Amino acid sequence: MDRRDLLKSALVALSLPSLLRGQSDKLTVIDGGGTNVIAFPSTDGLILVDSGAPNNGDRIVAALKTKVITLFNTHYHLDQTGNNERFAAAGAKIIAHAHTRQWMSSDYWVPEQDRYEKARPRAAWPTETFRTTGSFRAGAEQIDYGHLPLAHTDGDIYVFFKTSNVLAAGDVASPLRDPALDSFTGAWIGGRVDAMDILLGLANDQTRIVPGYGPAMTRAEFKAERDLMEEVRTRVWKRTLQGDSPKDMLEGGVLNGLARTWKDPYKFLNDAAKGMFAHHNKLDPAVI
Ligand SMILES: [Zn+2]
Repeated sequence: MDRRDLLKSALVALSLPSLLRGQSDKLTVIDGGGTNVIAFPSTDGLILVDSGAPNNGDRIVAALKTKVITLFNTHYHLDQTGNNERFAAAGAKIIAHAHTRQWMSSDYWVPEQDRYEKARPRAAWPTETFRTTGSFRAGAEQIDYGHLPLAHTDGDIYVFFKTSNVLAAGDVASPLRDPALDSFTGAWIGGRVDAMDILLGLANDQTRIVPGYGPAMTRAEFKAERDLMEEVRTRVWKRTLQGDSPKDMLEGGVLNGLARTWKDPYKFLNDAAKGMFAHHNKLDPAVI
């Protein structure tokens, strides 16, 4: 992300609390270094969704003011887990999908940078993991969370502040940045559409859906992104059947005429195509 994008993201993130205010006087969204960090004040301390990007800890802690008792990680990426150690050291419980802890506890390959990312120190790992769903109450607030299989990584989760009607979607919603498919984990575009359908089933017309980056979305805005992803899935699958490479797809205009533009369409198509290879048996009953 270049500096101009970073500034743009910061401004968008700063405007979020006012967007949320209509739904909830409790939840706020703060800038976690270009990413969204959601804070809910329970009587015992803050409940956070995501800990922000590395090196933003001081600013995030200063903005929060209050002790964090529970931190959710929507997935393992550094922009969402970058300050886990800091909150854990201050006593926070960290809840995430079991796969998120697996990625954080092992070295992993970053294909586009041709290097290994080192495993995170144990102090950053989630302290409580789950595989399907979970739920608890914080005062009057009902908090439900659950797995969104293979949408962006293999460990994406939603966190639904049901009473306040605010739904944290992590990078399964991507109104600002190119939708990303971490195909190395098995994430793929069909998984993304299925996960978005799970979220649509949770939301109503008043729900504020908070993505990992960018402004909060209405259900209608989120549905439009889901429908566009479904259209891309159909087009890319057709080209894959024709034997097209991601470069062929791009040059053949597979993304033309859609109601969004990509900053790096080749990267998106490359990841989308790789995900198709891994999940080819789910795409068509005639394919085995
Ligand atoms: Zn991510």
